[in-house]
Amino acid sequence: MIDGKKELEKLLRGNENFVNGTPTAKNMCLETLRKFAFHQEPYAVVLSCSDSRVVPEIIFDCGIGELFVVRVAGITAGPNVIESLEYAVKKLHVPLLILLGHDDCGVMKYAKDTYPEMPQHFQSILKCVYPVLDKKEDITCHNFFAQQHTIWVEDVLMEKSKIIKDAVENGKLYIAKCHFDHSTGRVEEIN
Ligand SMILES: [Zn+2]
Repeated sequence: MIDGKKELEKLLRGNENFVNGTPTAKNMCLETLRKFAFHQEPYAVVLSCSDSRVVPEIIFDCGIGELFVVRVAGITAGPNVIESLEYAVKKLHVPLLILLGHDDCGVMKYAKDTYPEMPQHFQSILKCVYPVLDKKEDITCHNFFAQQHTIWVEDVLMEKSKIIKDAVENGKLYIAKCHFDHSTGRVEEIN
């Protein structure tokens, strides 16, 4: 099993702790921060939505120094976001990349209502998600849309990022496509 899958299992166990109301994260104090004062060794990079309800460290029961988190509305993979993920892969050598979509995502709802128009605002975000609707115009449920988009983001990363593609093909990086359900608090891997 590649390291990334082991780290995913650990994080999903952490999610179980969160769901069960028994969080165990201890690395949340100044002492931990001081330990990492001049370096960091996260074991996963998480691409998460900016949504205030999706807080990776809390839902995975983690503390300081564990996750390299890139948060952007709708986990939309534009150039700066891709480079931030690449930094974690190439410079910090994380073995796991989690793409964390979620229920009730404002970007998915907005895009579904607006498609195929391109309004004056939020264009760079819409351009990242419209290709999913171009492929499957019959998407009616925005939660299903979010999952389809998460799958699409993996394709985008493999196409646009040589760093990520090489790491996956060399067995150094595992990409986990996940979905967070607000009503249960549970994170599940999707395929
Ligand atoms: Zn969202």
